[in-house]
Amino acid sequence: MNKVFFIRQYDYTPELLRHALQQILMPVAAKYGGFHNKKIMIKPNLLEYRKPEDPACVHPAMLNVLCELLRDEGAAKISIIENPAVHTAPAIISAMGIGEKLQDLQIHIANCERYEKIPTHKNAIFQQLEIATEFREHDLIIDFAKAKTHAMMTLTLAVKNLFGLIRGSERLGWHLAVGKDYHKFADLLLDIYTLVKPHISLLDAVTGMEGNGPGSGDPVQLGFIAAADDALALDMSVAGILGCPDIPILSRAAERNMLPQYENCGDIPAPLNIKLPEPPLPTLEWGVYFPVKLRDYLRKKMVSYPVVDKNTCIGCGLCVQKCPPQSLKLKKGKPRFHYPECIRCYCCQEYCPKGAITSGKTFLMRCADIFERLFRIGKRH
Ligand code: SF4
Ligand code: SF4
Repeated sequence: MNKVFFIRQYDYTPELLRHALQQILMPVAAKYGGFHNKKIMIKPNLLEYRKPEDPACVHPAMLNVLCELLRDEGAAKISIIENPAVHTAPAIISAMGIGEKLQDLQIHIANCERYEKIPTHKNAIFQQLEIATEFREHDLIIDFAKAKTHAMMTLTLAVKNLFGLIRGSERLGWHLAVGKDYHKFADLLLDIYTLVKPHISLLDAVTGMEGNGPGSGDPVQLGFIAAADDALALDMSVAGILGCPDIPILSRAAERNMLPQYENCGDIPAPLNIKLPEPPLPTLEWGVYFPVKLRDYLRKKMVSYPVVDKNTCIGCGLCVQKCPPQSLKLKKGKPRFHYPECIRCYCCQEYCPKGAITSGKTFLMRCADIFERLFRIGKRH
């Protein structure tokens, strides 16, 4: 049975982090004979450069303490390898203020560099994935994720963090290919997870992100760190604690018979209710029975659309560059959406450095809101 370890942690004080990481990582690492003499790859969630306290990325203090701990435990080699959306991993680490400390610890920091088309397993939906091969060159992979909301996937935890191993140029293509169907995107993430199978998953949920995630939401104190030997078990457990056990990754994993057995250990947080991306997930399961054209039409009517706050936007054009179907153009220095081509993947929101892109409700969604409010009032009387 997989175990998911929890410890309560309310700030990023290095001494407390050190104690907390020791408590939850050592039991997981024991399964692999500890960290001694191992070549270890850490895949942190480094979306792009943000201030240390910004919850878009794992906290630099925790990344630093993790490396110190691995060094003290006698790891033979420690690499931090990531494929950030913007900038490079070394540049982000250095801007976070931990570049020199990690250099002193002789940590190798790099972007993913070597990619190969690797066949997945026989039950996969996607038979082959072009993915960074660094994960095959290390004895232990630590999938170091941040607890955040995500406009497409509701939450991004340990399984979603592995999407960063897909080649950057391919990621836009994948969004375009599967972004119209959230469950297909979940299938892709599950196939990446099955291929990579990180040995240890670690979740920074001291401060998480709620609302307009994964790039522009609000910080929320969750007050815990979690670790597990199975990324999907960790996601199941944490999604339940955060009040949304039906996220697309878990729904698809259930349909594909992939959900692992697990038990929670340690100081398990009480259930929390974070603010989900606005509006919550569209319920499209029933839509799979409709012809594709009708489904696409309904989807446009029922799924929120991206909108820009022109006062917050600085006209950097990153959203335009990152839009898979090129349904965004800069006009007079501000993005303008061409909604018929927009696949609602929310890459524009994810990459916007200013949080200027949010979601707008369609007419049908507003009607549903009114109906729900009336229904609640009716129930009270
Ligand atoms: S406009 Fe935004 S949500 Fe629409 S397709 Fe482009 S990146 Fe995706
Ligand atoms: S990424 Fe954000 S700030 Fe930059 S142009 Fe787009 S909306 Fe404006």
